[in-house]
Amino acid sequence: MTLVRIDGLKTHYQTEEGNVAAADGVSLSVSPNETLGLVGESGSGKTTVAKSIIRLLPDNGEIVEGTIEYEDRDITEMSMKEVRRELRWKEISMIPQNAMNGFDPVHTVCNQIIEVIQAHESDTSKAEARKRAEDLFEELGLDRDRIDDYPHQFSGGMAQRAMIALALAVNPAVVLADEPTTALDVVIQDRILQTISELQDEFDTAMILITHDMSVVSETCDRIAVMYGGRVVESADADTIIRNPRHPYTLGLRNAFPDITADSQELISIPGTPPNLTDPDEGCRFAPRCPFAEERCWEETPEPEEFGDGHVVECHRADEAEMLRKEASKRET
Ligand code: ATP
Repeated sequence: MTLVRIDGLKTHYQTEEGNVAAADGVSLSVSPNETLGLVGESGSGKTTVAKSIIRLLPDNGEIVEGTIEYEDRDITEMSMKEVRRELRWKEISMIPQNAMNGFDPVHTVCNQIIEVIQAHESDTSKAEARKRAEDLFEELGLDRDRIDDYPHQFSGGMAQRAMIALALAVNPAVVLADEPTTALDVVIQDRILQTISELQDEFDTAMILITHDMSVVSETCDRIAVMYGGRVVESADADTIIRNPRHPYTLGLRNAFPDITADSQELISIPGTPPNLTDPDEGCRFAPRCPFAEERCWEETPEPEEFGDGHVVECHRADEAEMLRKEASKRET
């Protein structure tokens, strides 16, 4: 069963330099209790996709094409009033990259969690809501006694965990987690991911996990979507992406991590610079950085092609993947 289905999403930002096509035809889906990892370099459009789903785009951002189906509704067609009343927190919540920004600075963290709970569960008393907030704090390794603090009294890592408590407070069906553990040390990271995963099992929560950390992806995600230049260039189950990728960009990411199961590693950048999203060139966006680019890669934009079991790749040479993988590992040594 699919919970969220994104089809052909185009989200643009208006800037003085022109129109930035940050999501440029993104298609994705996520099912209950599934964790979908969204990976890719900075600027590839991951946050834009998440903000489009929960309709939190800045004023200069706009969904210009495509659909985002949640259950039987198209989120792109909802009014902001409907989004606030019927979607945010209750159905879909987001843990933003900078957790401190997710809180209102003039209210205590506890009151903000209570407010969200009571706004969506009219028969939950204040005392019950407070107890739930405290329990979540404890599960996330925060001191119960700190719950009446104001956001600014928290360190970055604590604010991030408090934000996770807020995002999980009314058991939403989908959690969008944008680099949720980056400000945390490895032990706490593991604990948080473990807690999120237990809550997922308990409530069948789906998660879209945006991260740069390939070890987190390989341990936590059921499926992975790799973004490059505003498009999902490859998606499949996590094992396929890690062991048998078909897109040269995914290969580049993978080969930057010879031992993905080792301790937390950051993405090592692939030579070259990301594409210009204001005025994208014809052809495959990865061609200028691709060691396997041929003439057609510069001229024709590759269409998504399926290689069984939901493994979808946008690359002209995807059917030569085995040879490309061998070639890539030879170049590495
Ligand atoms: P990161 O990992 O750094 O958060 P990302 O993959 O999430 O990167 P986005 O933040 O979605 O990428 O950005 C995609 C593109 O859109 C980038 O080129 C970025 O500069 C641009 N962009 C993002 N927000 C805005 C904005 N408010 N106005 C103009 N351009 C923007």
